[in-house]
Amino acid sequence: MNPLSKKKISVIIPSHNEQNNIGFLIQALNKTLTATDYDFELIFVDDGSSDNTLNEIKFNTAVYTNVFYIELSKNFGKDNALKAGITMATGDAIVTMDADMQHPPNLILKMLEYWENGYDIVYTYRQNANPHVKIHQKVTSNLFYKGINMLSDIKLENGTADFRLMDEKVVKQLKLIDEYELFLRGIIKWAGFKQIGIPYTPSKRHTGEVSYSFAKLLMLAVRSIMAFSARPLYLMTTIGISVSLLAILYIPYVLISYAAGYAVSGWASIIATIAFFGGLQLLVLSIIGIYVAKIFMQSKGRPNYLIRSSNLLTVNNDLVRV
Ligand code: UDP
Ligand code: MG
Repeated sequence: MNPLSKKKISVIIPSHNEQNNIGFLIQALNKTLTATDYDFELIFVDDGSSDNTLNEIKFNTAVYTNVFYIELSKNFGKDNALKAGITMATGDAIVTMDADMQHPPNLILKMLEYWENGYDIVYTYRQNANPHVKIHQKVTSNLFYKGINMLSDIKLENGTADFRLMDEKVVKQLKLIDEYELFLRGIIKWAGFKQIGIPYTPSKRHTGEVSYSFAKLLMLAVRSIMAFSARPLYLMTTIGISVSLLAILYIPYVLISYAAGYAVSGWASIIATIAFFGGLQLLVLSIIGIYVAKIFMQSKGRPNYLIRSSNLLTVNNDLVRV
């Protein structure tokens, strides 16, 4: 095959404290992808690592001409790191994957096959019986997918991963999306195009610790659902109406109690009612508050990430790709 006509695949790898996984992953990807008819580049996005991840990546950029790095100015979170990589990638297709070897590189070959058969997006989802997922991850994961499917208009497969291939035309559109609270898995599903999901069994994390604690996962779930759907706001209206109706039904009971002379003994029920309504109002207000905060953050128009350095081309300190 004429090298000039080779299609290029950009693999984007967000990396946060993955110092011992970088070299291993590069070797695995090189092994898998050099056996194909594609050109490929590996773009590592160092997402504010506090260990040796960046040096490890930089070392490999000197060894391999197809390895690149983007150093973010601090930890911006995986979705934002992915956006940094996606924005700079120039491949005919882009593959995003984790740095910890949980996403089997060989599956990329299957993705490429689907892509050649006309699919624009090939995403993956974790298979159910997965021995390498900790119990707290399983619980939050299930809650999350149930929540998002119930509370928004998209339907995500349980365990949908940030391991996917996207055609250049999808990437071009993604670059135009300017959302402060990025939730790529949702956006990809929302985007349409010709997409297909393939199941995979994640491997064990090669080395290092998972970056997400139970609390962080739970917050991420709430943030993602609220970033993607206004339905909780409507749900508040339903709850408000239901509780008001219950309160109306309660009035005859109060009146009858009064008429029967039991009024003084109602202290406990009054306190209970006040506490219940007080709590409910706080809940409703806090949900509205979160949406207001999101509008506030979006209205500032801040970028999703800032780049500190990169070995991708720069012109006047602005990163450009040719
Ligand atoms: N990651 C990141 N920024 C973060 C947290 C994680 O770029 O703030 C990367 C991490 O290095 C890995 C991927 O996102 O490549 C998935 O993270 P992890 O393995 O910790 O979580 P999992 O998805 O396995 O639960
Ligand atoms: Mg992982």
